[in-house]
Amino acid sequence: PLVDERRSVASVCCYCGTGCGVQVTAEAGRVVSVVGDAHHPANFGQLCSKGRALGDTVRHDNRRVLQAMLRPARGAALQPVERELAISQVADRLAGIIERHGPDAVGFYLSGQLLTEDYAVFNKLARGLVGTNNLDTNSRLCMSSAVTGYKQTLGADAPPACYDDLDHADCVLIAGSNMAYAHPVLFRRLEAAKARRPQMRVIVIDPRRTDTAHLADLHLAIAPGSDVALFHAMLNVLIWEGWVDNDYIARHTEGFAALKARVHEFTPKAAADVCGVPADDIVQAARWFGQAGAALSLYTMGLNQSSSGTAKNVALIHLHLATGQIGKPGAGPFSLTGQPNAMGGREAGGMATLLPGHRDPANADHRAEVAALWGVAGLPVQPGLTAIELFDAAATGKVKALWIAATNPASSLPDQAKVRAALERAELVIVQEAFADIETLAFADIVLPAATWPEKDGTQTNSERRISRVRAAIAPPGDALPDWQLAAAVAQKLAARLAPTQITNFAYASPADVFAEHVATTAGRDLDYSALDYATLDQLGPQQWPFRAGQGTSRLYGDGHFPTANGRARFVDVGYQPVAEATSAHYPIHLTTGRLRDHWHTLARTGLAPALIRHVEEPVLSLHPADLARYRLAEGELARIKSRRGSLVLPVVADDQLKPGLAFLPMHWGRAFVASEGVNALTLPAFDPHSKQPELKHTAIAIAPA
Ligand code: SF4
Repeated sequence: PLVDERRSVASVCCYCGTGCGVQVTAEAGRVVSVVGDAHHPANFGQLCSKGRALGDTVRHDNRRVLQAMLRPARGAALQPVERELAISQVADRLAGIIERHGPDAVGFYLSGQLLTEDYAVFNKLARGLVGTNNLDTNSRLCMSSAVTGYKQTLGADAPPACYDDLDHADCVLIAGSNMAYAHPVLFRRLEAAKARRPQMRVIVIDPRRTDTAHLADLHLAIAPGSDVALFHAMLNVLIWEGWVDNDYIARHTEGFAALKARVHEFTPKAAADVCGVPADDIVQAARWFGQAGAALSLYTMGLNQSSSGTAKNVALIHLHLATGQIGKPGAGPFSLTGQPNAMGGREAGGMATLLPGHRDPANADHRAEVAALWGVAGLPVQPGLTAIELFDAAATGKVKALWIAATNPASSLPDQAKVRAALERAELVIVQEAFADIETLAFADIVLPAATWPEKDGTQTNSERRISRVRAAIAPPGDALPDWQLAAAVAQKLAARLAPTQITNFAYASPADVFAEHVATTAGRDLDYSALDYATLDQLGPQQWPFRAGQGTSRLYGDGHFPTANGRARFVDVGYQPVAEATSAHYPIHLTTGRLRDHWHTLARTGLAPALIRHVEEPVLSLHPADLARYRLAEGELARIKSRRGSLVLPVVADDQLKPGLAFLPMHWGRAFVASEGVNALTLPAFDPHSKQPELKHTAIAIAPA
């Protein structure tokens, strides 16, 4: 029926974690319009440039993976084959590797682009059938420091605020987020709120003077990586000037005394020296935060993509706990999720360090609960490898098989030379993908053709914990199938080899069946939405978890009770660590990376929309005009950009919104789109010890005329 009829479905944009509702109209198997859904509470009909161009990205069949493919030998071309044959080959070859080398020789690398149902089936396949915790996702590059930050302080991976809080905040602290580009619809809402209430104070913390910073009453252009020193100094001022809420601290938290002693040395003057901003500005930021009736923090990759990402998240959350700015309208720490369904992935346990329902794979009771829900004997005990560790293990030959779905690690992971060596060394690389223009396909031994937006049904969860239905408007092209269906098809064949009693465990009739199994894993947990099903979502519309007694929950922790063992939130005595790679005489420039307004990830989808490509057609390195002069470069000339791991040749452009000594390069382009390696030829794989999130935001580089 999806092929012929004219239909209009309510769905969700497949880019950022704002999760805007869209109305997709299709006719004769083609999308004829995509407009904002006026009824969706994330966007009330608004869309950004990427959302408005969604229709232009659909059914470019000449740039899609339409058939399954096998590579007869390394170095040979991929050959189209029947999908069933490729599925059998995946199962047979995985079974052989498991029999020869054990389950931990297999690794899964998935994506925040997947729907919750896709994650749920992959997770059950990896842990319940294969028997490995080696299942990680590109959310490791995105939100894992937010996860560990929430868990260490508040006790659960749950953003406590909601989008309505943008309308109620008196002070908005935006840290490490160019939300004007990365979450544009939310930024428009913030602009509108400030226009209505000009007394709202906006503080932006970012080494670059971004378009977001132009809205700020105060922009703190801190040195890359110095956020913890800044937040500690703000807490120092809050304590010294008496803006902390001692009653809230005493009744609802623990650990404040040790942190208070720690931040004693972080005077505004001391922090000013580390952060490279005036001490008076730090004092001003703290006063605005402390004096606000409601203070809201919005943050994302600038805090997360760091070798001290957890400490940065924790130090920011401290400001809210110390002032009681949480659990009330307009207040709270609020991580803006990068990808459309990184939240749903976290709920389904779609990371090596998680199990479904916000459980922990290191906890024996949690493993037993999930095993019982899945109908399997037990779950693996051995800790799983996270993204960087997984590819390192493939590079050394420990991991023999990599199954990669809906992500492009041969462009997006740091230290590309090592990643590509890992993909070459692996005995079996399975790439499950919708788009043909991705660098990782060149390394595939088996390709499975995947459906993508708007060809698949399921659910996704946005930054404010809101679960929306994603609905198919057209049928997938060629032999493509939804990701959960491909995973389930392989699982049934693999079960026939490894555990015949489990074949029926993967016999889902529809994504609604998968969702029903998934929501059962949330019962009794902090995120409980076990009462939701597709019919309820169809009837009530998108809902925020926890969903109890027939309704969702807009804000968390209003009662001052936190999901920790004793119900108290925790201050954590964290220190300040500088960036992992210092600049030096040979590598004197700080490089930071980020998104552009009209592009997404490695361009697989936005590269199909002419209006988006036209905005910025090629990558350029932005430098302060003084640096251009220093390196004898004129705008548009080519520069050789070198780090300790690799080099690129790209044009340069002057940007006086950067400080001298700081360069910016967008993250999107790689070999598939330009005659140059991407930015990740330069970046380093150093990662945060708690979140294992790599430091994509800072690299020391050298520049010279090419
Ligand atoms: Fe899509 Fe994000 Fe733009 Fe909304 S703000 S239309 S979710 S990219």
